[in-house]
Amino acid sequence: MINFKELASTYKTPLYIYDLNYMTKQYEELKEAFKGRKSLMAYAIKSNSNLSIIKHFADLGSGADCVSIGEVRRAFLAGIPSYKIIFSGVGKSDDEIREAIQKDILYINVESEAELGRVELIAKELGATCRISIRVNPNIDPLTHPYISTGLHDNKFGVEIDTAKRMYIRANNSEHLDPVGIHFHIGSQLTELKPIYESAEIVADMVRSLQNIKIELKFFDIGGGLGVKYKDEVTIKPYDYAQAILGTLKGLDLTVVCEPGRFLTANAGYFLTKVLYEKQNGAKRFVVVDGGMNDLLRPSLYKAYHKIEAISQSRTDESKADVVGPVCESGDFFAKDCLLPILEHNDLLVVHSAGAYGFGMGSNYNTRGRSAEVALKDGVARLIRRREEFEDLVALEKEFLVK
Ligand SMILES: *Cc1c(COP(=O)(O)O)cnc(C)c1O
Repeated sequence: MINFKELASTYKTPLYIYDLNYMTKQYEELKEAFKGRKSLMAYAIKSNSNLSIIKHFADLGSGADCVSIGEVRRAFLAGIPSYKIIFSGVGKSDDEIREAIQKDILYINVESEAELGRVELIAKELGATCRISIRVNPNIDPLTHPYISTGLHDNKFGVEIDTAKRMYIRANNSEHLDPVGIHFHIGSQLTELKPIYESAEIVADMVRSLQNIKIELKFFDIGGGLGVKYKDEVTIKPYDYAQAILGTLKGLDLTVVCEPGRFLTANAGYFLTKVLYEKQNGAKRFVVVDGGMNDLLRPSLYKAYHKIEAISQSRTDESKADVVGPVCESGDFFAKDCLLPILEHNDLLVVHSAGAYGFGMGSNYNTRGRSAEVALKDGVARLIRRREEFEDLVALEKEFLVK
């Protein structure tokens, strides 16, 4: 049991808390599911990009999937070796591509023909050969929230199969490109195996057809997207996931690359916030807390559900309340109609499943400093990011203030 009261008194609120032992357990379970095959787990840094979290996965042997050069730099800082770093994303700038090539990472996941052209040109300028993989959009409905669906032609991600084939031929004929992998990532918070399996089949067939024209790939990058339980979702078991993927790879000698984010971090994280006030507007009950949408955006952005629990309150006399933050937006809420006991000033609420896409989506809106982050390992707490102070927020503006 995590002692939230003690953590709140030591580190204050709002506060992010991450259970590293839980992350280890998730990592090992997924890695284990792919045993018997060459595989690389490349932690999707965007789900939780705190350096100490990345370092934790680096120590477990993980690589990194990055979606900006900033994330690539974080991966290096945290000790992930270059040969385990992947750079994905639909809009890489020339500077980002150049730095990724100079850093000699494992490969760049290319998302369009135009991008392939830029990568080739920049590699040529550097006198280098860049390892690439192409992100294929298999046009399969992932059956998840439309905002986090990425594998349909309506989405901006990846390229169609026919385009991909043309790109592989071009890359294979280029002195400056080395096509080593193929990639798909059809969405996030996936709870259905069928779309994943169908996508893997399409992509594996593509690998076979490339073999027929003497283009031999080494990496089969299945992206991330494994869903987790926020409420009552029935999730995909890592073993079943791996079996489904491996079943499509018969006769192919490829290293499976997996890019898990949420699966590793979501349920390892808690967002701890303090009750400021109870208030009643007509029939509607509100619990106003000290954390806001600038700390945890998912409820506002996706109407995402997060379980909320009152700490050390008797569970009697519960009634429905909206849990809202101090930010000046009606969209600033953590839960609607959540059953909670009557609360008092300074009571604590724990928002569960906050380890993925929590802190990282935070902002300074309303000139609110971002929360501190704490990691728990074997029951011991350690600060891994200090709370932002007012001085941090104005530091980049003060020197430009005209007197
Ligand atoms: C976001 C992302 C991931 C991780 O997604 P999760 O749903 O957190 O597992 C993996 N790969 C790519 C390319 C991504 O954009």
